[in-house]
Amino acid sequence: MTDAHLNLIDGNWLPGDHLTENRNPSDLSDLIGHYAAATVEDVDRAARAAQAALPAWQARGPLARADLLDRIARRIDAEAESIGHMLAREEGKILSEAIAEVRRAAQIFRFYGGEALRIAGDAIASVRPGVDIEVTREPLGVVGLITPWNFPAAIPAWKVAPALAFGNAVLLKPADLVPGTAHLLARIIHEQGCPAGIFNLLMGPGSVVGRALVDHPLVSAISFTGSVATGRAIARGAAEGMKKLQLEMGGKNPMVVLDDADLEIAVAACLNGAFFSTGQRCTASSRLIVQAGIHDAFVTRLAEAMQALRVGPALDPSSQIGPVVSPAQLRGNLDYVALAAAEGCEVVGGSLADGPTEGFFQRPALFLKARNTMRVASEEIFGPCAAVIRVEDFDEALAVANDSDYGLSAGICTGSLRHARAFRHRVRAGMVMVNLPTAGVDFHVPFGGTRGSSHGSREQGRQAVEFYTTVKTSYSFGG
Ligand code: NDP
Repeated sequence: MTDAHLNLIDGNWLPGDHLTENRNPSDLSDLIGHYAAATVEDVDRAARAAQAALPAWQARGPLARADLLDRIARRIDAEAESIGHMLAREEGKILSEAIAEVRRAAQIFRFYGGEALRIAGDAIASVRPGVDIEVTREPLGVVGLITPWNFPAAIPAWKVAPALAFGNAVLLKPADLVPGTAHLLARIIHEQGCPAGIFNLLMGPGSVVGRALVDHPLVSAISFTGSVATGRAIARGAAEGMKKLQLEMGGKNPMVVLDDADLEIAVAACLNGAFFSTGQRCTASSRLIVQAGIHDAFVTRLAEAMQALRVGPALDPSSQIGPVVSPAQLRGNLDYVALAAAEGCEVVGGSLADGPTEGFFQRPALFLKARNTMRVASEEIFGPCAAVIRVEDFDEALAVANDSDYGLSAGICTGSLRHARAFRHRVRAGMVMVNLPTAGVDFHVPFGGTRGSSHGSREQGRQAVEFYTTVKTSYSFGG
């Protein structure tokens, strides 16, 4: 097949055992291409190649790694429009957001190029005279990186870049729904001179390829982003192999709106946080916790703004919300819309939307009069749906915000420094936003959450070194 896109294993493009179709969720008649599914044997071949390539890679030192990451960053930037086009076409994010995500991937590579040169250690006095102690960081070895469909450029970048920066070899398994963007990134990493075996792309189903990565004895660590259910399964497998593990999973992120909030800021933050990227963000503002005094005005304004959002094809510049990513995700979203009504909510929006092409278009939805105990207010939907929960005061808002199995991102809209400060200190979440959407984070600072949202050390920023290195303590006696 002429449009077959292959796996990258030990520096060679290899076919796997079958091809899968990649289709555009904005236009089902648009076949993007065929992508090779790797086999368990391919995973083994890549893991062995990675292990064999490590000594020479590590001997080249940090400057070679920094230079490589810098070249990759420049190339991603140079191709940002075409990669963004692919991302919008296969995932459904509108083009401007898709290009911004690709540019963010370039920034991440550039940042970790710098970090490659900043691996610090400690020199510590020994309790024994004449003995010196050095505490240094070393690469883990071969790492398996498993990524979801909703950020097909940024999430692979924020795992691959620190892994390479700190001297590891990578096996990347992207989500099966969006192999196209990962394939373009892999081509750039390869063409910019990453040594054979140090970066491998293994496409295909998680149940085969992802699982083989987790089970492989040469893989010393797994970094995963995706759903809680898959995260749990991976944790069991990783424990069996005693692998280092980092899991980033879902969220049911609270956004509190207090009576003293600036209404404009609150509506803009909630509109963006709940519905942009079709709500398909783990940091989406999916629980809007609104104080009684501002509730009615806020709901009226937000519902008006939400209903004015233009839902349409990702590549149409007039679209503000692209399609849902897949038929399974769309079915799930529509089931939750029906459930919201059955649980007693007043539902605004949420129905299927017509588009100029056959795609998975859905109008964004608000579930009014929700209670935090309802399933629609406690389970992650991962679509353009937000539950609105009315509360009487700050203390109730904080209690509701904290009453969740998740703890990824949390926001508050308020003009009160006292409430903002109390919220920042007392909310149980890995990231806190004041007068900002819960989604939308910088690339150079830690990302992650608490409870069911995250497990292991933080991704991104300088903290990524914790995961991608291991610590060695050396003692020496000079006589
Ligand atoms: P999934 O958990 O279904 O898949 C994530 C990745 O895991 C995919 O590459 C998938 O492969 C792979 N996978 C599936 N089964 C296995 C297995 N048994 N062993 C190893 N790997 C496996 O999540 P989605 O891709 O559907 O992403 C949506 C979810 O991700 C949401 O719940 C969202 O909250 C979460 N998410 C969290 C983020 C965070 O940083 N906290 C960021 C983005 C998303 P395949 O595609 O082939 O199924």
